[in-house]
Amino acid sequence: MAISKELLEILVCPLCKTKVELKPDGSGLKCAQCKRVYPIRDDIPVMLIDEAQIEDDQPQVSSGTAS
Ligand SMILES: [Zn+2]
Repeated sequence: MAISKELLEILVCPLCKTKVELKPDGSGLKCAQCKRVYPIRDDIPVMLIDEAQIEDDQPQVSSGTAS
């Protein structure tokens, strides 16, 4: 991925002005505040609310094994 740390430092969510975080797989930039994920196209972060997808990270529900 070609998103530099320096660039990440200045990128904020256009909606809530919170710093975004690069997703572990490098596919997008996630705002921890509103859960929007901004796509990265051709190594260019698309910081548009219209382009973002809300991705709610639900905690993994481990069920069935507890006794
Ligand atoms: Zn946000």
